[in-house]
Amino acid sequence: MGKLIFYALVALLIYWAIKIRAPKQRNDASPPESFEDMVNCAHCGVYLPKSEAVSSQQKYFCSHEHCNLYIRSS
Ligand SMILES: [Zn+2]
Repeated sequence: MGKLIFYALVALLIYWAIKIRAPKQRNDASPPESFEDMVNCAHCGVYLPKSEAVSSQQKYFCSHEHCNLYIRSS
């Protein structure tokens, strides 16, 4: 019975050692999610994420207002 407890403790120690090392490796491997494609407004030049930009005529704008102003001026 004593041997069984000894092996159980060894197994627990190995499991514990792996568990401590694993999260650090995962953090290094995970790609940064905060990075997004940045585009600049063709009218005022302000930088904003592509998902928030208004696109028209293969150009990006910070707002519909600037999109309309750019189309009118060009
Ligand atoms: Zn703008």
